[in-house]
Amino acid sequence: MNQEARDRLVEAELQGVEQIRGTFAIREGRCALGVLGFGLEGSDPLALLSKYEFSEKVVACPFVGTNLEMNICYPRSEAMLVAHLNDTHKLSFLDIARKFPESIDG
Ligand SMILES: [Zn+2]
Repeated sequence: MNQEARDRLVEAELQGVEQIRGTFAIREGRCALGVLGFGLEGSDPLALLSKYEFSEKVVACPFVGTNLEMNICYPRSEAMLVAHLNDTHKLSFLDIARKFPESIDG
């Protein structure tokens, strides 16, 4: 996930976008992936993955090994990790932007 994606998440936080869990978009509400355009009408998931440089390699959840439901924090693709941080850990857009691991593709 590149800096542009992080910037978009920070922007959503500053704009006060209502954050939802478990689905991309409901009315004005968005999950973190929804903020990035996923699941919106007319959006092309492959184009979005490319735009934001989401790696297909699996990455570890930054919370693995903590006392929070560690058995569900298995490594997953970057896009799925965004959803995991949004839905399972209930991180704000800002915290997802700040705590998402550096992309391993460089
Ligand atoms: Zn986790």
